[in-house]
Amino acid sequence: MKKYQSVVVGGGPAGITAALYLLRGGLNIAWVEKLAPGGQVLLTETIDNYPGFPQGVKGFELIDRFAAHLEEFNYDKYMDEVQNIQIGEREHRIKLSEDWMQADTAIICTGASWKKLGIPGENRLNGRGVSYCALCDGNFFRDQEIACIGGGDTALEESLYLAKLVKKIYLIHRREAFRASKIYQDKVIANPKIEIIYNTIPKEFVGEQDLESLTLVNLKTNKTFSLKVSGAFVFIGLKPENLFLPEEIKTDEYGFIITDIEMRTNIKGIFAAGDIRSKVCRQICTAVGDGATAAQNAQIYLEQIS
Ligand SMILES: Cc1cc2nc3c(=O)[nH]c(=O)nc-3n(C[C@H](O)[C@H](O)[C@H](O)COP(=O)(O)OP(=O)(O)OC[C@H]3O[C@@H](n4cnc5c(N)ncnc54)[C@H](O)[C@@H]3O)c2cc1C
Repeated sequence: MKKYQSVVVGGGPAGITAALYLLRGGLNIAWVEKLAPGGQVLLTETIDNYPGFPQGVKGFELIDRFAAHLEEFNYDKYMDEVQNIQIGEREHRIKLSEDWMQADTAIICTGASWKKLGIPGENRLNGRGVSYCALCDGNFFRDQEIACIGGGDTALEESLYLAKLVKKIYLIHRREAFRASKIYQDKVIANPKIEIIYNTIPKEFVGEQDLESLTLVNLKTNKTFSLKVSGAFVFIGLKPENLFLPEEIKTDEYGFIITDIEMRTNIKGIFAAGDIRSKVCRQICTAVGDGATAAQNAQIYLEQIS
């Protein structure tokens, strides 16, 4: 079984940054990514809010630059999926598809994914009007009419944020009442830019090149109708990539890993960084910050136990 000082799980912005800091610290590390380096950034057409790129940057271009930074280093890279982590007294065992490896520290950077509606037009118009992230894409819809879909805290909170930017929001909710906290409900109901449409579900995103309208069905009347919108934000939940996670590692009620501000989990030697963490702001810049913090604290921990 191969042994490492640290294993970084996940090759998105958090994992790449963690690996970079560990390698610059001279550590013997392995880096595991199940698909391709880049994570969610590869799904992003243009990133407009990463410092240093005032004109925006294509997702794949940013990741090419991130990955190029690792090229000068020697380390073990595995294109594989972590299946399990066995917590040890001092060393932890990490299971890939077939092999096991052993490490004093592990930095979990496996990210998250937004839940999709699974309706026609959603994938085709993703990034062309259909979005899952207000902070990422809200600015593209300044002074335009958009729809937001969902009824939980995130849907209402993000709708309130978007209402500051856009001309009008149709907030589509499938039930008679919201399940979000009362404080958000009160604010949404009082906001003149937000029109709430209850008992309604989206049926199709329509548009040639970009989103032009949203087809909806009223569940009470069974009537289909259409809303002319240039943007539609789907806020029906974020799913952590945590299937491999042992139950000893504490998570919040949604399955995101709980850490302290130094990215330490409740288990010694196990750190988490980026979107997999229980936190409010899930962005590339926060993932990068988490990755650096986790790597730095992993090195401090390694010095303490040596
Ligand atoms: C469409 C879209 C647009 C966005 N736009 C912006 C934007 O404009 N600005 C911005 O700042 N943020 C944006 N974001 C959010 C941003 O991409 C994320 O916050 C960021 O990528 C999180 O980085 P991460 O490294 O924590 O996780 P991720 O990017 O999710 O990377 C996690 C990686 O871990 C890998 N992985 C998962 N499980 C395993 C496993 N078991 N074994 C091995 N590997 C595994 C995955 O394959 C993935 O590569 C956007 C996201 C999306 C989806």
